[in-house]
Amino acid sequence: MMKVVACSVTVDVETSIKSFSLFNTHRDVVKQFVGIHPEASAREDLERFKEIFRSNLHHIDGIGEIGLDGTYDVPIKRQEQVFRTMLELAESSGRPVSIHSRKMVDGVLEILSSYHIKSALLHWFAGSKKQLAKCMDIGLYVSYGPPLVYSEDKTVLLKKTDRDRFLVETDGPVQYSNCFENKPAISTSYLVSVIASAAYAIDMTYDETVELLQKNSKTYLTYT
Ligand SMILES: [Zn+2]
Repeated sequence: MMKVVACSVTVDVETSIKSFSLFNTHRDVVKQFVGIHPEASAREDLERFKEIFRSNLHHIDGIGEIGLDGTYDVPIKRQEQVFRTMLELAESSGRPVSIHSRKMVDGVLEILSSYHIKSALLHWFAGSKKQLAKCMDIGLYVSYGPPLVYSEDKTVLLKKTDRDRFLVETDGPVQYSNCFENKPAISTSYLVSVIASAAYAIDMTYDETVELLQKNSKTYLTYT
């Protein structure tokens, strides 16, 4: 049987502390990412986050979700300040990052260019083909979720994604329409359909796609 290793992400100090209590003893199956999400960036205390980050570093596999979002009612300047602090932590700890970039792909790429990050993923990639090409040029990973099953746009993007740079995700508890009937993606079971759709789009078998994804995940997650 295939062994699924999931990455959990957090959004603020409180959920990060909760994550440590849930996953510190299960890191063979749950990789633990912690971060301050742009939506929470206005209210969070950066010094407090840095403190808990440093004292729990041996339990942390990556930093996420972090990034910028052009649709939130949080000043972009503050979002940038928090994002930069998160990237500094990633740079100094050598950890990979998972980035949220809704309506802000260019802004994210610009900020990223001034840091040396081990590996960076733009989760839920929803940029243009041109932005995707730029991401591929600089060696970023991008991930696709359940809409790959019913959205032609996502299929087009996947076909243009370098095979060694693509990952899949649930983005749970987001709810999905169409064949998913507005149920929240709270388990990794949705990934079976996502992988099947991806395999069809890139003309590989299901098993080959699983193998590719395992290889990509390992490269993305490995740090020294
Ligand atoms: Zn996100």
